[in-house]
Amino acid sequence: MTDCLFCKIANKTINATIVYEDNEIIAFHDIHPKADIHILIIPKIHIESMLHTDNSHVEIIGKIMLKTNEIAKNMGLEAGYKISIHTGIKGGQEVPHLHIHLLGNK
Ligand code: AMP
Repeated sequence: MTDCLFCKIANKTINATIVYEDNEIIAFHDIHPKADIHILIIPKIHIESMLHTDNSHVEIIGKIMLKTNEIAKNMGLEAGYKISIHTGIKGGQEVPHLHIHLLGNK
């Protein structure tokens, strides 16, 4: 989507501090970190939120969860971390492009 902030980060129209990228997923530092480590992990394809997922997204949702765990371990969070997926207006979602918050303290 042309006017989506996270699509613009995925296609490099807007800069972010990227910590991981492949063909389907990109992960970058949250601009307003709420923990020592606060990474956002997103699918490159535009999915508005978890409310917009269906069976066609089984593979990408699986991959993104496993990749989140890999990124957490690579960032030294073997002792544990929190993930959250704000979903929709009542779920506190501000950016309408599905993203996982990965939060961890050292
Ligand atoms: P949410 O409430 O789940 O939609 O969270 C959106 C998150 O995106 C917030 O934690 C913001 O700090 C973060 N954010 C907004 N703009 C940017 C940006 N340009 N680069 C990195 N993170 C951002």
